[in-house]
Amino acid sequence: MSELNLILLGPPGAGKGTQAERLRADFELPYYATGDILRAAVKADTDLGREAREYMDRGDLVPDELICKVVIDRVDSDEARDGFVLDGFPRTVGQAEELHRALEGLERQLTATLLIDAPDEEVIRRLSGRRVCLDSGHTYHVEFDPPKNDGFCDQDGSALVQRDDDKLETVRHRLEVFHQQTKPLVELYEREGLLRRFDGTRSPEEVNGHIRATLATLRLEEQI
Ligand code: ADP
Ligand code: ADP
Repeated sequence: MSELNLILLGPPGAGKGTQAERLRADFELPYYATGDILRAAVKADTDLGREAREYMDRGDLVPDELICKVVIDRVDSDEARDGFVLDGFPRTVGQAEELHRALEGLERQLTATLLIDAPDEEVIRRLSGRRVCLDSGHTYHVEFDPPKNDGFCDQDGSALVQRDDDKLETVRHRLEVFHQQTKPLVELYEREGLLRRFDGTRSPEEVNGHIRATLATLRLEEQI
């Protein structure tokens, strides 16, 4: 079977994690979300977590040298042999270049970069209302995707909390960081013919339907 090596790109709050959860179930690909990896490192108080924490609290990106190896080791692991979904990586041109070099070294290549786009004002509404469960980071929204029992995760019953960096001031800063440091990747992947665009303002079901249709086409093209 052909590999499916995918990147999810988009502003914070566009719905990357929400879509990834569905894609994982549909395509059985390992999923590497650098935000989740870093938050787990902070919680476990590892060297990586201690170094990353202050950047994350401010809403800044952690330095490339902290995060690249972490991702590339996973991409180069046995479980990612048939493909992977990267969420939140790459986020800078330097990270994209490093990933490209690593894949080249493994004689592999990206299948596509899926851009889920949404305007700033929508993203701000979403992040302000986002709630995540303490145990596993399952995601809800107070208005758009509320849990069945107020304040508790439907899937594992743990308490729902607001991420510190989802407070309004930090959200605004994260958006600036996105426009300055991550937006250039849209052009880069467009030039390489890898970019597929999705309108993140649609409902989660619609976005998922569009992504599934695109991936089905890509798989067919790979088999031809
Ligand atoms: P990202 O991973 O891109 O930061 P999330 O998937 O965590 O984004 O989504 C951000 C917030 O918006 C969450 O609270 C989520 O429930 C909500 N959300 C995600 N997709 C949609 C959508 N299509 N419409 C409305 N709300 C959404
Ligand atoms: P979002 O909701 O913005 O998609 P994430 O959960 O992906 O947030 O990321 C949370 C924080 O983790 C970022 O603000 C940043 O500090 C750090 N981070 C995550 N991925 C990267 C990366 N590829 N490079 C640098 N920093 C990262």
